Amino acid sequence: IVIVDNISKTFHAGGRSHRALDGISTTINRGEVLVVIGPSGSGKSTFLRTLNALETIDSGSIIIDGVSLTAKKTNVDQLRTEVGMVFQHFNLFQHKSVLDNIILPQKVVRRRSEAEATKVAQDLLEKVGIPQLADRYPSQLSGGQQQRVAIARSLAMNPKIMLFDEATSALDPETVEGVLELMGQLAAEGMTMAVVTHEMQFARKVGDRILFMDNGKVVEERKPNDFFDNPQSDRAKLFLEQIL
Ligand code: ATP
Ligand code: MG
Repeated sequence: IVIVDNISKTFHAGGRSHRALDGISTTINRGEVLVVIGPSGSGKSTFLRTLNALETIDSGSIIIDGVSLTAKKTNVDQLRTEVGMVFQHFNLFQHKSVLDNIILPQKVVRRRSEAEATKVAQDLLEKVGIPQLADRYPSQLSGGQQQRVAIARSLAMNPKIMLFDEATSALDPETVEGVLELMGQLAAEGMTMAVVTHEMQFARKVGDRILFMDNGKVVEERKPNDFFDNPQSDRAKLFLEQIL
């Protein structure tokens, strides 16, 4: 469903340039979970952001469900609605209730009626385990609860793929597990996902493939058990020694 071919991206800031992505290629098949790991600054977030065109690329190509992200005639706004993204910080509308946070984009982007959008929102709140919080405001929720709302809001668009960038990194330790469980449940239901995470147990259990990045490059791309039990590169060995 996703084909990434030799993409590169250089940032220019303060008179310096930095090659954040340096010839990345990979594919994500339908229903697959690609887990992206690697040291800080290796380009994980930049890579994820290119997949929904939050970041442009300098060269290479990205095709999502048959549509090229880079072709001039592609409607990027349209394509972006097919690619859900969940961030470390939840980016909810603070002045809207939980229910309205999930209803609003459905009306604007999918042109659903109030009644239909409300039904979808209620069903999704049920699914993510917080139906009782529909009328609260984001500031009245825990981090884990806010992240559940953010996930529900993304799912309401019926995305073809979900991107998670350190979705549990800002959460209290005791709420991390619940959100990871929810992500695992989505994966088990067949959602296509690309996940940047530092949760190695999750990566091993839920991931279909690990993409290990360093310095803007893919250093290893392998099945989780192969990667964790027998990393090939010195870079990956060092990384795993440091975090496990
Ligand atoms: P972390 O684990 O810390 O989140 P990361 O792997 O997600 O790191 P990126 O955020 O993708 O790393 O950044 C890759 C490199 O690109 C870094 O060196 C970063 O400083 C640089 N970079 C990212 N965004 C920008 C930007 N908007 N302008 C300039 N440089 C940037
Ligand atoms: Mg990052």
